[in-house]
Amino acid sequence: MANTKHDVIIIGAGVVGCMVARLLSRFKLDVLLIEKDSDIGMGASSANTAIVHAGYDPKPGTLKAEMNVAGNRMYDQLAGELNFPFERRGDYVVAIGAEEFVKLEGLRQQGLENGVPGMVIIDGADVRRREPNINPDVSGALWASTGGICDPFAVAVAAAENAVVNGVTLLTDTAFQDFIMEGTRIVGVRTNRGDFRSRWVVNSAGLYSDVVMHKAGLRPEFKITPRKGEYYVFDKAEITINNVLFPVPSATSKGILVTTTVHGNTIIGPNALEIEDKEDRSITRVGMDEIWQGALSLIPSLSLRYSIAEFAGLRPGGNAPCANPNVKYDKDFIIEIPKQVEGLVNLGGIESPGLTSSPAIAVRVVELLKDAGEKLEEKPEWNPIRRARPRFRDMLPVEQKLLIESHPSYGRIICRCENVTEGEIIAEIHAPVPARTYDAVKRRTWLGTGRCQGGFDTARVVEILARELGVSPLEVSKKGKGSEFLVRPTKEKEAEQC
Ligand SMILES: Cc1cc2nc3c(=O)[nH]c(=O)nc-3n(C[C@H](O)[C@H](O)[C@H](O)COP(=O)(O)OP(=O)(O)OC[C@H]3O[C@@H](n4cnc5c(N)ncnc54)[C@H](O)[C@@H]3O)c2cc1C
Repeated sequence: MANTKHDVIIIGAGVVGCMVARLLSRFKLDVLLIEKDSDIGMGASSANTAIVHAGYDPKPGTLKAEMNVAGNRMYDQLAGELNFPFERRGDYVVAIGAEEFVKLEGLRQQGLENGVPGMVIIDGADVRRREPNINPDVSGALWASTGGICDPFAVAVAAAENAVVNGVTLLTDTAFQDFIMEGTRIVGVRTNRGDFRSRWVVNSAGLYSDVVMHKAGLRPEFKITPRKGEYYVFDKAEITINNVLFPVPSATSKGILVTTTVHGNTIIGPNALEIEDKEDRSITRVGMDEIWQGALSLIPSLSLRYSIAEFAGLRPGGNAPCANPNVKYDKDFIIEIPKQVEGLVNLGGIESPGLTSSPAIAVRVVELLKDAGEKLEEKPEWNPIRRARPRFRDMLPVEQKLLIESHPSYGRIICRCENVTEGEIIAEIHAPVPARTYDAVKRRTWLGTGRCQGGFDTARVVEILARELGVSPLEVSKKGKGSEFLVRPTKEKEAEQC
């Protein structure tokens, strides 16, 4: 496998790397996507608020603003082609009291400058009618009709699958260690699985994008400071929110919001806590209290009794100044082909709204390659469509019956809370980007995310994974090496002791 030669190597299979891979698969290029983890999308791309932002929030003139608005526009076509869950429900910035109400117009103006269509300021009575559980002191809201929600992991996996089907090679458990250079030209990468040579390398390593660019001697002053955001998830049978509800933002953050997800759960969060450790996704008592208080100011009737899960994600926030000299703003995205080295497309500081921006960032990467003289010839056989696999819970009874008749494994429910069948699990294990761990199956099928949080399904999923992958159940893990579920076969051990 090592010492192969590619046209482009992409470091990092988060939503950005996967979108870049998918778009490059359109051209006659040999593309390799490498990911250090056991599955794609295990970084920021699977632990975020899942909002396709309208684009009124970023500072005008920044790459963040440009990519946000452009990316948002691409989501309808993308969701149609790649078959991932996406709902353009619109979003609300909710003002509580008169002081906050006056700030809505400033936000609307900023949105207009960024080119956001469909924004209206509505009064408190209108907000109460649309969201009956809202704080009764609501004075109005900025309604942005282009805001949406999606399943961020599904976006990444759909893009990766489409890329693989169109010829991209994906290697998981493959960590970039260093560049192979000839003078100032990058000619490949060194990894834990050997060397891979290529004409171009794309740095889309998220939290580690600073480490990667420093290896090429670039931007030594650039630093990623992880910004932790924590969340509560609520039982969908107990709490229903209709909309995406933001508070009026502060100078540093969009604030703690209350939103529904495409899976029907209400989530609250995130806060914004700067930390040093790029792997610290633990939740904190202080942080959870902070998001709880923030959420109550929007929906006072929320009850923690119905919280079924908690999680945290890390924003890969950077300190790069805005490339536009007319705009004084740091912490902008970096999207560049730097002059100091040849053969690198450098992406950095892709924090929020990076999920929304990811398809537009991929387009910009292709534009940069063309500007650098790369002759990108389209493949006539490129297929933009990624076919969806059956989702049992979303089917009509008559469709379910027909499916079970042709594939009996769809008649066996493995996760009772989320109604996930054995057939769906098997399909994911044998998909173009295969699910090989419990978490990989969970993120693709949504099993184990309901009230029992995997209490009923885990043992069955371990059995199915072992059978389908042809490995011992002892080798089946939660999220890759070192997280295996089982230690030894107990019955065999007891027999030995008798
Ligand atoms: C709390 C929170 C809330 C957010 N909410 C939103 C939102 O609502 N809407 C929105 O648009 N955006 C949101 N974002 C931002 C969005 O999630 C990110 O901008 C986006 O996921 C970044 O994608 P990425 O591919 O650049 O990074 P990642 O998803 O982190 O992917 C980078 C990948 O690179 C891999 N990698 C790193 N180092 C190496 C190496 N040495 N070798 C190989 N692979 C490597 C990592 O394992 C990882 O898989 C939020 C982020 C957070 C944390």
